Amino acid sequence: MVPQSIKIRKTMAISAKGGSYLLLIDLEKPLILPQKQFLKTPLESGRYLYAGSAYGPGGLRARVSRHIKKRKPKRWHIDYVTTKSAIKEALIVEDAKECDFISHLLEIEGIIVPLKGFGSSDCKKCPSHFLKIPETLSLEDIPLNLPEGFMQWQRS
Ligand SMILES: [Zn+2]
Repeated sequence: MVPQSIKIRKTMAISAKGGSYLLLIDLEKPLILPQKQFLKTPLESGRYLYAGSAYGPGGLRARVSRHIKKRKPKRWHIDYVTTKSAIKEALIVEDAKECDFISHLLEIEGIIVPLKGFGSSDCKKCPSHFLKIPETLSLEDIPLNLPEGFMQWQRS
């Protein structure tokens, strides 16, 4: 059974507590990332998931709002993608760990690691915090071990 989620449209409604999130991103055109280790492997157009965590000031709300913004200084690997694509959905879970999302997702057929080490430079457990998923999948279809009261944001 899918645990009860809270559906939200406005980013202001996202929790300001700490936790983890998943972003569903549609990339319309192939993209070459400027980092040396990614130069030889362009990202194909398609659907991706990015897992991250936010435990700093402003928590999940501040971080997810930043990801959604197209104009921003590029600080993380994912910034090179979010400035060139559209975030369609986000799943927001207080107190969760992003690596737990990744280990669940990697068990699902058709979900692959497009670039090793993307977004996971500080992680010793995951091959990447960025995954390519079939374009027919949305966050609602993906079985994740989520607690009650997690939030689902959808671009309106
Ligand atoms: Zn990880």
